[in-house]
Amino acid sequence: MNQNNKKVFLCAINNVESGTCNEDCRFCTQSVRHKATIKRYKRKSIDDIVYEANIAKKNKAVGYCLVTAGGGLTDERLEFLCNAARAVKNENLNINLIACNGLASVEQLKELKKAGVDSYNHNLETSKEFYNQICTTHSWNDRFQTCLNINEVGLNLICGGIFGLGETQEDRISMLNSIAFLNPKNVPLNFFHPNKALPIQNNTLDVDTSFKIISKAREILDSDMLMVAGGREVTFKERQYDIFEYGANAIVIGDYLTTDGENVSKDLENLERLGFQIAKNCEG
Ligand code: SF4
Repeated sequence: MNQNNKKVFLCAINNVESGTCNEDCRFCTQSVRHKATIKRYKRKSIDDIVYEANIAKKNKAVGYCLVTAGGGLTDERLEFLCNAARAVKNENLNINLIACNGLASVEQLKELKKAGVDSYNHNLETSKEFYNQICTTHSWNDRFQTCLNINEVGLNLICGGIFGLGETQEDRISMLNSIAFLNPKNVPLNFFHPNKALPIQNNTLDVDTSFKIISKAREILDSDMLMVAGGREVTFKERQYDIFEYGANAIVIGDYLTTDGENVSKDLENLERLGFQIAKNCEG
């Protein structure tokens, strides 16, 4: 495939509140129930969040995502995020500001939008049919409703899921069809990164099946961005830049929520060497 002139979008995530979640998602180290050895902290300072937004911009990210561990937005968390959003927006970085804070009502989302948030990320994670195998403390319908709320308030929807949890191909297609119905701008595809503390122990996918999942997602979805997010390095290893041949056009740069990512400058060097153009903004 000729990869010249192929554009790649980069996105940076900032785990501004880590490892404090009471939900029981069986794939997630941030749940306090699984006792995984990860960094746990309650809220980074606004100064650090602003500083890291500037680093993301320097690293050519077009999106900067403020992530909090937790089932959803509380009044206190919402106020903190609105303050953080206003502070980042004051920097005039021309970067898409994303919030990813779990279940959210229309009223809460309107507050985030007013504070300057451009997009909200909320993943369906898996199919409606398989969901109770991966989480019992909230429902797939709760997740779907939050995505509808995001569309209702006019924030850009970012909605994807995670693969390799033991779901079937039917589950994958079912989830991708649900995502297509929601018509998100960006679809993050996460590949399960196993951790001994978690109830789900193994990623059930081999690398070729993982590539086929990307192709299937591209076939079903016409979203502007198809992003390979968590698990890129551990799943695809030395073939990690082949994801673009299968239909992905975006990646997360830097660290993930609780695991280290590829070194940013190595990613940038490799993308350049392979003839990719790094997108300058969300429109390209
Ligand atoms: S709600 Fe989010 S942070 Fe909490 S356990 Fe589930 S995936 Fe992890």
